[in-house]
Amino acid sequence: MTSSSRDRTMIDWQAAGDEAVRYLRDLLRIDTRNPPGNEIRAAEYLRDLLQREGIACQIVGPSPERATLIARLKGSGRKPPLLLMSHTDVVAVEPDQWSHDPFGAELVDGFIYGRGALDMKHMVIMELMTMLLLKRSGVQLERDVIYMAAADEETGGQYGAGWVVEHHPELIQAEYAINEGGGAGSEINGRRYYTVQTAEKGTARFRLRTSGTPGHGSQPHSDNAILKLANLLSRLETQRTPVHYTTSLRAYIEGVASAQPPEVAQALRAVLADESRADEAIDALPLNENFKKRLRAMVRNTVAPTMLRAGSQINVIPSEAEAFLDGRHLPGWTPEMFAEELRQIFGDDVEIEFLNPSEPMEADPASPLFDIIKDVIRQHDPEATVIPTLLTGATDAKHIARLGTRVYGFAPGLYDGPGEWNRIHGHDERVSVRSVQWGTRVLYEVVARFASEA
Ligand SMILES: [Zn+2]
Repeated sequence: MTSSSRDRTMIDWQAAGDEAVRYLRDLLRIDTRNPPGNEIRAAEYLRDLLQREGIACQIVGPSPERATLIARLKGSGRKPPLLLMSHTDVVAVEPDQWSHDPFGAELVDGFIYGRGALDMKHMVIMELMTMLLLKRSGVQLERDVIYMAAADEETGGQYGAGWVVEHHPELIQAEYAINEGGGAGSEINGRRYYTVQTAEKGTARFRLRTSGTPGHGSQPHSDNAILKLANLLSRLETQRTPVHYTTSLRAYIEGVASAQPPEVAQALRAVLADESRADEAIDALPLNENFKKRLRAMVRNTVAPTMLRAGSQINVIPSEAEAFLDGRHLPGWTPEMFAEELRQIFGDDVEIEFLNPSEPMEADPASPLFDIIKDVIRQHDPEATVIPTLLTGATDAKHIARLGTRVYGFAPGLYDGPGEWNRIHGHDERVSVRSVQWGTRVLYEVVARFASEA
């Protein structure tokens, strides 16, 4: 028995789980809606908990309000550090659509309600508990374990993780990081999975602009900027960007298939047989529509129109019309390469202007950390399968990966039934008490093992 596994057995997991729930409820009551964020209040709350137990920390950021908390447990230094990263900001709420106060942290029927319960204050606290428990149990660390609760993830991270990478990379430089983006239990066709996010798409949002001849609304003509724009956008109804396989996509599909009955597994592997026929293979999958929708987005660079702007008066034909489109590109792709595909749809003379693009990232799933995650999940949920995944959205991983850090999304949680994850950024966001308790233990065991392994 290693010293770390001896330490693990000494932890009272009921008490640790209750403690995590208490801190989570406190944190959910701190309103960190971004904008404006005001993450300082969350940072101070976390700082006090860490300092009380003798863990050194500091608060950094571009302004006093946009605060990121960073703490460190020192190891022997024989191995490079591990970063536990999270964000403390949350998205807006429509309070009248909620059945509970979004900042009340009410506990009802085993669920804690609050904006950020799943995205991602639960993980802020599970990582905090990992720091506290490592310190209390005196585990011999071979790696420093760094804790970062960052500001501003929800609007891109420029004032949080992005700022730290620019101004204080030395505080968070690590070989591996554990982040949001995976880790929660899910079911596909009755089989249970836990994902580890090993890749995410980049954002390449852009503007399409058309111009025409202005005029009086009472005398229509065909050189109308709005009609031209509508014509361009309607092409997206029938034309799709091509399919491209990535390492993470292959690993994801193989992983899902590995736990399915033979006929489903075969249908899944058909998706990987030929890029030019992958869409047909996805359409034919004997799995639910949600799964297929996600898969269609995982196999390609995607584009979705999300905002329109044209005209200011009903009787005036405007000279310009604009559409804003949410573009997402795969690991291995640049916005410029993606633009080539977009020109296939919109034509060569259309100007595509990317707005603040961000990089995709992909981390090799073959690693000792991934193996430990698999092993710990096997102990706690023997029937489940652990699989890498590609996130179609973006997280702070894009910033941290620039430091050469291998970022895995693994915020462990139990499967609490279908639809729970749709509450992220939606109404009545909540997390179950049993999931927080379970996740606290799983995360601790992963980190304690990985960071103490010689
Ligand atoms: Zn998040």
